[in-house]
Amino acid sequence: MTIGVLALQGDFREHLEMLRKIDVDACEVRLAGDLERVDGLIIPGGESTTIGKLLRQFDLLESMRQRIRAGMPVYGTCAGAIVLSAEVLDRGVDQPTLGVMATTVRRNAFGRQVDSFEADLAIPVLGPEPFHAVFIRAPIIERVGPDVEVLAALPDGTIVAVQQGNMLATSFHPELTEDGRFHRYFASLVDRSLAATPLARESR
Ligand code: GLN
Repeated sequence: MTIGVLALQGDFREHLEMLRKIDVDACEVRLAGDLERVDGLIIPGGESTTIGKLLRQFDLLESMRQRIRAGMPVYGTCAGAIVLSAEVLDRGVDQPTLGVMATTVRRNAFGRQVDSFEADLAIPVLGPEPFHAVFIRAPIIERVGPDVEVLAALPDGTIVAVQQGNMLATSFHPELTEDGRFHRYFASLVDRSLAATPLARESR
């Protein structure tokens, strides 16, 4: 199993390090050809407007959409969650997105007063231990479609982690902590999708 990390902008190195730490083969994805070699993809945190423009410039929007719609697992953290979302509030003037997840996100939603903060979250799919979540100019997930499962919320009910089939999105950055559970959870989705389609690699 190989997990790719979109490496156009943002904190992709931290994701690569985390994947290697949990013993998952990982590689950078910059070109459509790189995409063909991976079984799952992480879209990192960074600046979603810049990532969107680079996706368009590198001609990756359509090939990524097709792979994701065909079932390739994908995980977006922070800016990555924005890139995946079908509806983006406070969107940049020219901000292409993939729009594949049935979510509505609001960019920079915590405002300047609380630009960045950390919180211990209960995330039942990761086990009983709370997860230390780091938020940096984070979006919030304001609405979700019927097929979207909420994995974590802040005490006031603000949704910050969701799953829709093989797609995962978090407002926060597990790659900036020492806790590999979120990446392991994503790797388990990739494993499961490979088991469900054993010929997936050969047919690409
Ligand atoms: N505020 C950024 C955006 O809108 C996301 C910040 C992050 O990824 N840490 O794209």
